[in-house]
Amino acid sequence: MSLRPTHVAKRAKARVFSHGRRSALRFGLGCGCAVGGLGGHAGKAVARLLDYDLSASEIAPGSWAVLGATEWFDELNGGNIVNAAFIEVPDGIVVIDTGPSRRYGEALLALIERTVPGRKILRVYNTHHHPDHFLGNQVFDVATIASSQGVIDNIVAEGDAFADNLYRLLGDWMRGTAPVAPAVALEVDSEDVGGRTFSLFRLAGHTSADLVIRDEKTGVLYTGDLAFLSRAPTTPHADIALWRDAITTLGTTDRELILPGHGPEDVSGESLEQTVDWLDWLDGTLREAVSAGLTMNEAMLLPIPPRLASLGVARTEFERSVVHLYPGLEDELFPRIDVDRG
Ligand SMILES: [Zn+2]
Repeated sequence: MSLRPTHVAKRAKARVFSHGRRSALRFGLGCGCAVGGLGGHAGKAVARLLDYDLSASEIAPGSWAVLGATEWFDELNGGNIVNAAFIEVPDGIVVIDTGPSRRYGEALLALIERTVPGRKILRVYNTHHHPDHFLGNQVFDVATIASSQGVIDNIVAEGDAFADNLYRLLGDWMRGTAPVAPAVALEVDSEDVGGRTFSLFRLAGHTSADLVIRDEKTGVLYTGDLAFLSRAPTTPHADIALWRDAITTLGTTDRELILPGHGPEDVSGESLEQTVDWLDWLDGTLREAVSAGLTMNEAMLLPIPPRLASLGVARTEFERSVVHLYPGLEDELFPRIDVDRG
C-alpha cells in the first residue's frame, strides 16, 4: 500500500475561544505588554497567540498528524512544538499525545471533531512524560488515557514541576492546565482498540520510559521523542546508550512510515539516522571536551558540523545538552579516587 503523505486538511477555521473571552484575555495580558517588542501589532499578535490554529495532515489512510513547529517553547508558539496524532479505527478514534496545555488539548479535540465528526475517542496514548506531550490530557476521559507504568510513574513524579516550568515559559497559554496521569498501565505488547490492533513497544533512552506505538493496519510507527527529524533532539532525561539501543530496535521494526515526536513524517527512516547521528556526535564531542579539561561554558562554544547545525534549534539544544550531560561525563571520565594517606 502506498502511504505517500497527502496534505488534506485545511487550516482550522473555528476559533478556540469566543471573541468575548479573547478580549478578556487581551485585557488580562495588559493589551499586549506581556509580549513586548511587537509594537503596533501587539493587540493582533496577542489574539493570534491565544489560538493554536492546529491543522491535520493525513499521513496514512484515516491517520492524521498534527505537526508542531521545530522550535523551542515561547510565547509566540504557545508550546506547539510537538507532534500529536489521531487515527480513525472502526469504532472510534485513537489519539497519540495531547500537547503542552489544556488549551492545546481543547484545540486538538476540536480539530478531531472537525476532521472526523461524531466519533468517540476510545484510547489516548502518552508516549512519554515530557510536558509538551501530555499536558493536554485533562480534556480527555482519563479512563481512556494509557501508557506504560514507567511513563505513568514519571508523570506522577515530575508532572507538577513540568507544568510549573511551562507556566513560566508560556504564560497565559497555560491557563487552567494541570497534569493528569494516565489511568491505564499497559502491560501487554499489543491491544485491540475499537477493531484495530496496535503494537506497543516499551523502550527507553530519550527518557527512562518511552512508549512506541505501531498501527498494525497502516504500518505507521509513532515513535514519540525516540526519533526527531529536522530538529535537534532534546536530552534532559537521556541515557544515550539506551537511546542508541532503542533506535537499533526501531530500525529493524517493520513499518511503512514514522511519525517522529518532532518534525515531519518520515518515509525513509531518515529520522532514526539523523537522531543517532546527533547523539553520536554529541556524545563524542562532549567526551573529548571533558577529557581536554574544557569548562561547560567553553564546551558550549564548540562548533556544530554543518549537517547538524542546520537542524532546528541546534545551538540551543547543544547548549542545553552540555548542561544535562557534562556532570555525568565528568564523573565517568574523572572518577573521584579516595586516597588513604594514613
Ligand atoms: Zn521528549
